[in-house]
Amino acid sequence: MELKRPIRVRMAPSPTGDAHVGHARTTLYNYLFARQNGGTFILRIDDTDTKRNTEDAEAGVYRGLRWLGLDWDEGPDKGGPHMPYRQSERLDIYHQYAEKLLASGAAYECYCTSEELEAEREAQMAAKEDIRYSGKCRHLTEQERQALKAAGRVPTIRLRVPDVKIGFQDLVRGWIEADTSLMGDFIIIKSNGMPVYNFATVIDDHLMQISQVTRGSEHISNTFPQILIYQALGFEVPQFAHFSLMLNEDRSKMSKRMGATFVGEYAEMGYLPEAMLNFLPYTTHFRSWSPGGDEDEILSLDDLLEKFSLEQCTVSNAIFDIKKLDWINAKWIRKLDPADLAQRLVPFLQKEGFIGAEYDLGHLTQIARLIQERLPRLDNVRDFPYFFLEPEVPTTEIKKLLKDKDGQAGLKAVLAAVQTVPWQEAELETAIHSAQADLGWSNKELFMTLRLAICGGKVSPPLFPLMEVVGRERTIARLERAAAQL
Ligand code: GLU
Repeated sequence: MELKRPIRVRMAPSPTGDAHVGHARTTLYNYLFARQNGGTFILRIDDTDTKRNTEDAEAGVYRGLRWLGLDWDEGPDKGGPHMPYRQSERLDIYHQYAEKLLASGAAYECYCTSEELEAEREAQMAAKEDIRYSGKCRHLTEQERQALKAAGRVPTIRLRVPDVKIGFQDLVRGWIEADTSLMGDFIIIKSNGMPVYNFATVIDDHLMQISQVTRGSEHISNTFPQILIYQALGFEVPQFAHFSLMLNEDRSKMSKRMGATFVGEYAEMGYLPEAMLNFLPYTTHFRSWSPGGDEDEILSLDDLLEKFSLEQCTVSNAIFDIKKLDWINAKWIRKLDPADLAQRLVPFLQKEGFIGAEYDLGHLTQIARLIQERLPRLDNVRDFPYFFLEPEVPTTEIKKLLKDKDGQAGLKAVLAAVQTVPWQEAELETAIHSAQADLGWSNKELFMTLRLAICGGKVSPPLFPLMEVVGRERTIARLERAAAQL
């Protein structure tokens, strides 16, 4: 299908306090689509639901999207030719268009109270009829309207819905249609003067010259009333693309109850933005991937720009497979430059109390290089306290391991061997191997004893680089302490 041009797409989050992973995905797809086509990407804040929105909530959305490194060309914070980009600041515009529809007769004022509407609904249910607004106020005379107004009633504005079939060619799903007979005349402006989402969205998408409306499939049903509004206003209808919903592995809808849903929560858990961006298209786009994953599945934003296409998105619902995200995240952590990784680890190290406000980035970089292969997520840095804190000596374990060997003598031999060597991996290795030959201990006996003495546990990065990074003074102190306790 030929794309409408110039390409102008938008992301229109309702500010909910933080960017949701669904927001992240919609933003990514719009961003990729705009950048691939030399288009413009607009951020609009859908904040007409005044009860829920706060400035903080908007800031939360920005924070999440910025963390991902996705930038927009026009928006509330950036300005642009179609300011303002916050719906709450565009109420006059919506009212102007509502007036136009009233004047042309495409919309009308409805004075029904919520009690009357409720009674109407109940009657329809009892009669097993379709539930929809009866159109009672469609034909009010001017006199009747004045009387209702005088009685203190405040009207809503409803669109006069024609009895037609409407459809559209979705860029992802192909032709979708619905008939309007069940829709009933719907409200476009509430009695408090606020526009409903469908109305404000159409006006803004039109005025902001949006060429493709690209969003999640939960909005397919909104597209039909939106098309009716475009038609009533004589606006050109944009193209639409709806990609599938994101579900938990058990196919339930992603929700707070089932685990993390906000981008910020993933950041706090130690996922990299690169990994999240790499992962999101796997929920809808790259259909097949081997369960373990292949190296060529590790894609940067530039790679995604090359490979992604809206038309290839799947129609079936997408599973948010956290195991896939974990796999991708570990790969991305390995790819980072150690200095970069060290910098990203800082808040996690501070949270664990391993470092304070001041730290030695050079030393952290050495640590990062050593643990990089062993970090599925940044928060797993908590598994490496012994680079920062003094571990307990697991004396019983060492004794169990050595059986009848003299642990104290062994550690003393190692201490004597390393005392004078330059504190570097290769030299330490040579010195300790020669001590081992004298002692006649097995690899397991000696290296595990050292590991237990230095780290307090059996699992660690390879011993010699570990000793180098833990440092001369600390290693020697730990070996002496262990020798004294055995
Ligand atoms: N504010 C709507 C949402 O957050 C926007 C939907 C749309 O893209 O039209 O879901």
